Amino acid sequence: MPTTTALQAASAGAPFEITEVPVRDLRDDDILIDIQFAGICHSDIHQVREEWGKAIFPMVPGHEIAGVVAAVGDGVTKHKVGARVGVGCMVDSCGECEYCKDGEEQFCTKGAVMTYNGRGYDGEETKGGYAQQVAVAERFVCSIPEGIGLDEAAPLLCAGITTWAPLKRWGVGPGSKVAVVGLGGLGHMGVKFAVALGAEVTVLSRTDAKADDSLALGATVHVATADPLKLKKLRGTFDVVLNTVSADLDLNHYVALLKPMGTLANVGMPPSPFSIRPSSVIQGSRVVAGSNIGGIQDTQEMLDFCAEKGIGASIETIGASEVGAAYERVVAGDVRYRFVIDTSTITA
Ligand code: NAP
Ligand code: ZN
Repeated sequence: MPTTTALQAASAGAPFEITEVPVRDLRDDDILIDIQFAGICHSDIHQVREEWGKAIFPMVPGHEIAGVVAAVGDGVTKHKVGARVGVGCMVDSCGECEYCKDGEEQFCTKGAVMTYNGRGYDGEETKGGYAQQVAVAERFVCSIPEGIGLDEAAPLLCAGITTWAPLKRWGVGPGSKVAVVGLGGLGHMGVKFAVALGAEVTVLSRTDAKADDSLALGATVHVATADPLKLKKLRGTFDVVLNTVSADLDLNHYVALLKPMGTLANVGMPPSPFSIRPSSVIQGSRVVAGSNIGGIQDTQEMLDFCAEKGIGASIETIGASEVGAAYERVVAGDVRYRFVIDTSTITA
């Protein structure tokens, strides 16, 4: 079997090592991608540290993949060699259930196959994008339009679609008042999208350290949540609150910021359960919802929207040797606003 050079963690919390990992022989519908950039999502950190429960090791994380088609299987029609492409959190699904048919592969009744820390339907462990190559079924490979750099496009494949999908689902547009909680990888994309969709956007961040950035991203207000009085003043203000925080948070304070019948769309996945008082949601008939990435059709629509509006992720590009330090900075909330690995630096 062919191999590729990858950044792999041997066990939970172990440092990354550069090593050779297998890349499967191309199936009929497979695309071999020369990866150029891989974003670092907080979900990579949760999984490689086993914060969500038992994970599969050794692990090559990475589900924000951007690169160029290197080879295609005999039956591939969607992409040609040399095309600019991206892969997000999923690499397979049954293709037949009502959700797959509806373009919502993430809800596949057979269970979508995750890009890494997962198993294909053949039982093979999946390996992610912190590598030089990956083979993926063409149905899960999106086109990255000209006009977006592959580096700033990589994070769109997870942070982008994960914030785009709930904003669209809950009808954000001109006249909407939106609050984005947590200005990190997902949060900064949430702000860019909500602004581009015409909403009035407030950023709720722990401190004022990112206030200038919030305004530069197009938000009209930045509020430091460390001051409870400032949050109190915003009660009943928003149609949608998008929570992107990766750590434990008292959601009751944020539900209270919704207008009656407003929605708190939660995308952050801290390890502990949320605790919500019944009165928080009953008063005002407010909705607390979750949102899980997004389907492939929506991902392509989001990428096309980004090209049309000139939107990319705000990134800091790093080499393979800097990934460990970057993880520490992400956990400390010190990322502006997505680390992207230049995968050409993953060399033995
Ligand atoms: P990130 O870049 O680390 O951003 C998270 C932000 O949360 C930080 O920048 C920080 O913003 C805030 N934060 C961090 N610690 C906090 C604390 N102790 N209290 C309050 N706020 C805190 O992470 P990300 O990559 O955007 O991912 C965010 C979360 O979404 C993760 O849990 C990830 O697993 C999850 N996720 C979910 C999906 C999905 O499908 N639903 C997809 C991808 C990721 P401030 O500095 O502005 O406060
Ligand atoms: Zn992610």
